[in-house]
Amino acid sequence: MADSESVAALVAGLSVAQKAALCLGSDFWHTAPVSEAGVEAIMLSDGPHGLRKQPGRTDHAGLRDSLPATCFPTASALGSSWDTELAREVGAALGAEARAQDIAVVLGPGVNIKRHPLCGRNFEYFSEDPHLSGTLAAALVEGLQSQQVGGCVKHFAANNQETDRMRVSAEVDERTLREIYFPAFERVVTTARPWLVMCSYNKVNGEYASQHRWLLTDVLRGEWGFDGLVVSDWGAVHDRVAALRAGLDLEMPPKLGVSDRAIVAAVAAGNLDEAVLDEAAGRVLRLVHRARHREPAALDAEAHHALARRAAAQSMVLLKNDGVLPLRDAPDLTVAVIGEFARTPRFQGAGSSQVNPTRVDVPLDELAAALPSATLRFAAGYGTGDTPADAGLADEAVSAAIGADVILAFLGLPPAEESEGFDRAHMDLPAAQTSLLARLAEAVPGTPIVAVLCNGGAVRTATWDHAAAAVLECWLAGQATGSAVADVLTGAINPSGRLAETIPLRLADCPAYLNFPGEEGHVRYGEGVFVGYRGYDALDRPVAYPFGHGLSYCTFSYQHLLATCTGAADTGDLAVTVRCTITNTGSRAGQEVVQVYVGDPAAAVARPPRELKAFAKISLEPGAEREVALVLTARDLSYWSAVHRRWVLERGEFRISVGASSRDIRLAQDITVEATPPAVPLSGTSTLAEWLGDPAGGQALSDALGTGPDGRPAGILGNEELLTIIGNMPLATLAAFPGLGITDELVAMLVTAVNERPAEATPGPRQRW
Ligand code: BGC
Repeated sequence: MADSESVAALVAGLSVAQKAALCLGSDFWHTAPVSEAGVEAIMLSDGPHGLRKQPGRTDHAGLRDSLPATCFPTASALGSSWDTELAREVGAALGAEARAQDIAVVLGPGVNIKRHPLCGRNFEYFSEDPHLSGTLAAALVEGLQSQQVGGCVKHFAANNQETDRMRVSAEVDERTLREIYFPAFERVVTTARPWLVMCSYNKVNGEYASQHRWLLTDVLRGEWGFDGLVVSDWGAVHDRVAALRAGLDLEMPPKLGVSDRAIVAAVAAGNLDEAVLDEAAGRVLRLVHRARHREPAALDAEAHHALARRAAAQSMVLLKNDGVLPLRDAPDLTVAVIGEFARTPRFQGAGSSQVNPTRVDVPLDELAAALPSATLRFAAGYGTGDTPADAGLADEAVSAAIGADVILAFLGLPPAEESEGFDRAHMDLPAAQTSLLARLAEAVPGTPIVAVLCNGGAVRTATWDHAAAAVLECWLAGQATGSAVADVLTGAINPSGRLAETIPLRLADCPAYLNFPGEEGHVRYGEGVFVGYRGYDALDRPVAYPFGHGLSYCTFSYQHLLATCTGAADTGDLAVTVRCTITNTGSRAGQEVVQVYVGDPAAAVARPPRELKAFAKISLEPGAEREVALVLTARDLSYWSAVHRRWVLERGEFRISVGASSRDIRLAQDITVEATPPAVPLSGTSTLAEWLGDPAGGQALSDALGTGPDGRPAGILGNEELLTIIGNMPLATLAAFPGLGITDELVAMLVTAVNERPAEATPGPRQRW
């Protein structure tokens, strides 16, 4: 059962009932076997940042009851590493663990866009930016699949909140889907070729994703060439037959005795083409076959823990540092370590991604090991729940801080505040923590406070970070958070994480604020393509920390930007090579993330001022320099046109900006691109200006109206003043106005004439968008 012919032969030998059974799992985690045909069941398991293999064949209400596995940094952290090779390594390690636990498919990564800071599952997603999300997720899938274990990119599509996630309809226009919510999926599908795609629970523009043929078949398979299997999110199927017709191959968990019977009945009644069933069953068989190449392996827990530690350290983002960091070990150094999270670390979120870690590094212990000569004093300061401030705990913290040289304040979100299944109610740290910080600042003025944050979704910093000399954002960085944070605070590792999402000054500044989480079953993506920094920048809103921001213990200079175009848009081989030289101007080795943004200052549609289109993370010894070269394609400069229903590259100037964050642009250059504008489809409802703006349309109109006795253009074309006033009126409307030379017959004749233009110049039929 290797190639498509043998799969087809196998399918041909199965009964309708056997094929229907294949399109459902056999239990919560396994596909259905067909023993008579020698087809075994394979196991699928969560994902995405560590395995959650549940013993036995059913789900356990207790999400924690799974076999021990390495808990790698969650995507909120890994996304902040901006490190493609690291994502690949983590993927390969996940694959190796899957082999050790006899798992065929890992249900991840999740590449939904962080549309709003309060999404309860933001810790499972990489970024507010599709290019960054897609690049890291593709590398992770490549790593995973290098172990002959399947990746399952999820949740397709527009699953950007937990509120009412099983039913809510995401109302989102096609341009926004194409530019923001699809590209991460598209990149993973077209470059890493994942074995599976998981559809989301929600509806997209009124249709359940599980039944959305345009999504699951036209776009995913037709346009992106996906050749794997589409699986439902767990419980996302409502009408099994409609879902099958739309392109959903496998229902999980199975509604045994219901969905299979519905499929058999639909085929018998002629409501479902058996060929559709054959396709889906064939894809399940291909998946089973792919999984057969997997060799068993032993879990190397030590090596994976070391990788988890390196990955966590690479992901931490140093938001602010007045020079207090890194800490230097010395006998006369006294460090007050404040905060329950230093003793009881928070390193992962709750829900289906929850891992039972092989071990957990405790920050307090790791700091003691990393600063052997120093004196450490610990005080919990607050409880881990979202409880009111405990005066006793706060008093203890103040006592520990008095006389210390530096205060490390471990802060973060209580575990109960962020999880799959619900959205957060606000983006503030618990009041018990911020009031503790204020008390410390007041009690020991002059003693530097380093805030160490552990949270999956972004937290507001603007209300308290003035009290901190340094702020280190660790996200939820996995089981090795404790050792990694000690590495970064002491400078054993130079921080190199960069924000994968903007931290706003206030929640209300967020571009999606007024349209989240929707109401009465609908959430309107009213901000359109202006998600995250695209929106903050377009609105020119100040932010606390911009997208792409992150400090290092050294500094970097940017020089010699040169962007050069080769090829041409019309021949499909346009490439813009962006080169610049980066120098480490500090005194220690470090890593810089070079970010390339594109802007189109004069566009036919509203476009974000800057969009990330390429990046590279490079390592440099002190004083060393390196030339970075990154290549942009025509697609990177294009927008999705709702009129033409395709990517359109406009001719003219584009601004190429290179920087250390979306708001720290170090170099910029304008380039000019040539491209033939697509023909606008002309009709009676096209305006006079649109007719005149189209070379063929303008010519046809002027030929038809001819010239007057004075040799000047006749009718409306001879009256320039009136032309500007009525230019935005539809041509057919002008037929009612006397003296302009426009009649219904003339409009009909012109429409016929321009529509006889070559086929490729007119866009395809508009669909439901
Ligand atoms: C989640 C998926 C997960 C699945 C299986 C669903 O509730 O949305 O991400 O893979 O459960 O646990």
